Amino acid sequence: MDFEFTPDQQAFRAELRSWLEAHVPLDLRIDPSGSITAPNREIFERRRQFQKQLFEARWIGIWWPREYGGRGAGLMEQYIYEREYERARAPFPHNYPAINQWGPTLMNWGTPAQKARFLTRMLSGEDSWCQGYSEPGAGSDLAALQTRAEDRGDCFLLNGQKIWTSGAQFSDWMYMLVRTDPAAPKHRGISCMYLDLRTSGVEIRPLIFINGEHHFNQVFFDNVQVPKENLVGPLHEGWKVAMTTLGFERSAAAGRAHDLQLKRLDELTRAAALGGRPAAQDSYVRQRVAQLHIEYEAFKLSGMRALTRQLKGLPPGPERSMMKITGAELAVRINRFLTELLGHHALVDGATPLVPDGAELLNRVLLSRVHCVSGGTVEIQRNIIGERTLGLPK
Ligand SMILES: Cc1cc2nc3c(=O)[nH]c(=O)nc-3n(C[C@H](O)[C@H](O)[C@H](O)COP(=O)(O)OP(=O)(O)OC[C@H]3O[C@@H](n4cnc5c(N)ncnc54)[C@H](O)[C@@H]3O)c2cc1C
Repeated sequence: MDFEFTPDQQAFRAELRSWLEAHVPLDLRIDPSGSITAPNREIFERRRQFQKQLFEARWIGIWWPREYGGRGAGLMEQYIYEREYERARAPFPHNYPAINQWGPTLMNWGTPAQKARFLTRMLSGEDSWCQGYSEPGAGSDLAALQTRAEDRGDCFLLNGQKIWTSGAQFSDWMYMLVRTDPAAPKHRGISCMYLDLRTSGVEIRPLIFINGEHHFNQVFFDNVQVPKENLVGPLHEGWKVAMTTLGFERSAAAGRAHDLQLKRLDELTRAAALGGRPAAQDSYVRQRVAQLHIEYEAFKLSGMRALTRQLKGLPPGPERSMMKITGAELAVRINRFLTELLGHHALVDGATPLVPDGAELLNRVLLSRVHCVSGGTVEIQRNIIGERTLGLPK
C-alpha cells in the first residue's frame, strides 16, 4: 500500500484546506463529536448559508456527478475531503443524510423527473430532507415496519408513525418506507416514497437527547395524502431501495475525528495531576492511552485497506462492518477513559481551570454511544460478520 499522496492529490488537499480556512465561520465550527442536526433554527439557517457557499464553490457532494452540482471526484479525493473537513471542524451540511444517502439512492432508483427536480437542490441546500425508516417496533428489524400507505387510486393514504427522525423539525421532505401490501411476506409489500412534510395530517413531536439537544423526533401521519408520483422504485419493492440507502448510511456511521479526540486526551494527560505529578507520567495512564492510539491506528489502516479494495474495483469485504464496530466502540472507550482521568471535571457543563473546553468534553462523553446505535447497531454488525464473513449459523 502506498501511503503517499500524488502531486495532484496534494494540490487538491491544499486548495480545499485553504478554502475551508478562509470560509468556515469561527462560531460555526463544531466539536468532533458534534451532532449532524443544528441545535436551533438560527444555527440551522447559518449552516444553510454556509452550505450555499460550499455549493457555489463545488465543495459539497464532491463525488456526485457534475450534472447535479458535484465534482465527479474519485475515491482518493473523497478520502482527502473527509479528513480535511473534519480537520477544519466545518459544520455538517444541514442536508447531510440527503447528500450521503438519499441523493445517491435517487440517482439509482429515481425517475428522470425526480432526479431533475430534487438532486441539485439537495446539494445547494434549497431543500432539506430527513429519513423516515425507523418505527417504534421496527429498528434493527426494519422490515417489521407498520406505517401503512393505502392505494386510493389518485393518491396513497398514509397512517402510522416514525421515530428517531433526525432533523425532521427543519426538513421540507421526508423519504420513507411504508407498507403498501400488508398481505405480502414481511420484506415484500414495502414501498419507498417521499412526502412533503407540510402536508395536512403530519405532526412532528420532539425527542430530546441526553445532553438537552433537540436532535430527533417522532412523526405521526393521520390520513395524509401522498401523490402517486412520489413513489421511488417499483411499488411493493421498496426493500431493494432501502438496501441502497442503508449501504450508503452504514459506511458513514462509524463516528468521526477519533484522532482529534485522542489529541485532546493526550493534552489532558499532561495537564491533569495524578499522585503529585502529570498523569502522563503514570504508567497505568500511559498504557491506557497507548492502547487507544494502537486501536485508532488499526481502525485507520482498516479504512485504508477498504479504500484499496475499492480502488482496485474489488467488491466490499468485511471491512465496512468492522469499521462500524471498531469506530463506534473506540469513541466509547476514548470517552470512558476521559471520565476516568478527569473525574468530576468531565461532568461539568462549562469551563474549569483544568478543562476550559469542559462543555464540549461533557457533550462528547454524553454522545459517545450514538454511533453504536445510529445507522444500525454494533450488535447487528457483529451478526453480519458472523453469518456472512465467518459463515457461522444464524
Ligand atoms: C442518533 C440517532 C439518530 C437516528 N436517526 C434516524 C433517522 O434519522 N431516521 C431513522 O429512520 N432512524 C434513525 N435512527 C434510528 C436507528 O436506525 C435505530 O435506533 C437503530 O436501527 C436500532 O433500532 P432500535 O432503536 O429500534 O433498537 P432495537 O432494534 O429495538 O434494538 C435494541 C437492542 O437490541 C439489539 N438487537 C436487536 N436485534 C438483535 C439481533 N438480531 N441480534 C443481536 N442484538 C439485537 C440491538 O443491537 C440493540 O442493542 C437514529 C438513531 C440514533 C441513535
